Amino acid sequence: NTKEPWRPFNSSRVYMADLESALHYSLRVEVAAHPVIRKDALTSLKKYVAVLAKYFPGRPVVMNLLRSVDRWLQSQPGDEIQYEALEGILDNSAQTPNTALPEGETWVGCQGSQPHLRRYPCGVWTLFHVLTVVQSSSGGSTDPREVLGAMRGYVRSFFGCRHCAEHFENMARESMVGVRTAPAAAAWLWSRHNVVNNRLAGALSEDPNFPKIQWPSPEMCPSCHTVDANGDHKWNDKEVLRFLPSYFSASGILTDYLE
Ligand code: FAD
Repeated sequence: NTKEPWRPFNSSRVYMADLESALHYSLRVEVAAHPVIRKDALTSLKKYVAVLAKYFPGRPVVMNLLRSVDRWLQSQPGDEIQYEALEGILDNSAQTPNTALPEGETWVGCQGSQPHLRRYPCGVWTLFHVLTVVQSSSGGSTDPREVLGAMRGYVRSFFGCRHCAEHFENMARESMVGVRTAPAAAAWLWSRHNVVNNRLAGALSEDPNFPKIQWPSPEMCPSCHTVDANGDHKWNDKEVLRFLPSYFSASGILTDYLE
């Protein structure tokens, strides 16, 4: 267990290495913990992969792989699959050229100061913020909760941190139905993530080098922050709605450290 070298990064940008690492961990580690995937879990997995194939702003090789996994999953007729069969499709790059999900984890913006901090959970949040923003920018008349619904199902069926999944499901049950547009979906995820940050500030899971803040900080987005008549902090929602697509948009994602 040699310590990985620290990778310098720009903390106000999103890295494709984090997104691909999150995909790798989710599909090859977290889902792999279920030797047989059936019923609700299979429905969750199908929706999750469908959303990835549609909105993940990935490299062509990765998109080819996600589309092939999506096609395979959608063509499964029964109400259960073996993980081993899915694994065969995930690792099919030997058979199909230009199709691969890179193996292994290369955390960049999601590096932690200790091996047990940040990494995958950070990658999951980043991935889902990106997906809500890409859905929103793709226009069309799709279901405004397409990405959120897929995320909710994935977390409920597979996310390894079970108490996190419970907390998230409670928040979803409380207010996700109120989301009526795709930009509102990105805003819902932003505000729920801040609720989680607030709850976890100062907890043991917090990386001391990456304190939980109400995000984005005033340095990152000055115009997102205002004060009300009583001098209390208030978000400028309109400015936040402009900031989210600029921060998480596909065109702003950095490709440093990709193999
Ligand atoms: P993270 O909170 O993981 O954020 C990742 C990155 O997203 C940040 O670096 C920042 O760039 C950006 N970001 C931060 N806030 C926002 C925001 N509001 N909107 C948009 N982008 C933002 N841990 C627990 O201990 N208990 C829990 O109950 C729990 N529930 C979780 C539920 C879910 C669905 C997920 C995905 C994770 C949960 N976690 C929970 C893990 C926890 O939220 C963090 O992911 C983990 O502690 C790592 O924190 P981090 O510092 O890397 O930042």
